[in-house]
Amino acid sequence: MRTCIVCRKRENPNSLLRVILKDGAVLADPFKRIQSRGASIHRTCVQMAVHRGAFRNAFKLSNSPDTTALLAYIDEEPNEMDAKDMKLK
Ligand SMILES: [Zn+2]
Repeated sequence: MRTCIVCRKRENPNSLLRVILKDGAVLADPFKRIQSRGASIHRTCVQMAVHRGAFRNAFKLSNSPDTTALLAYIDEEPNEMDAKDMKLK
């Protein structure tokens, strides 16, 4: 079980999106391939995370990380049911 960094609800890891911090930016790691410190979050909680500075807390940063790429990813991802198929494209 993993805990969403925003709403603290415990979920099966497959229900949550793994995000990692790389070069001061938060990136989606949907296939859990990137070796880096990660956090788990609901896709629907991402906007709230940005609003509340949840990524800054999760990664123990003094400044809010860049979330541009993550927000673009969330925007483009059709829904979580299709996430598994994305690697085929
Ligand atoms: Zn959540």
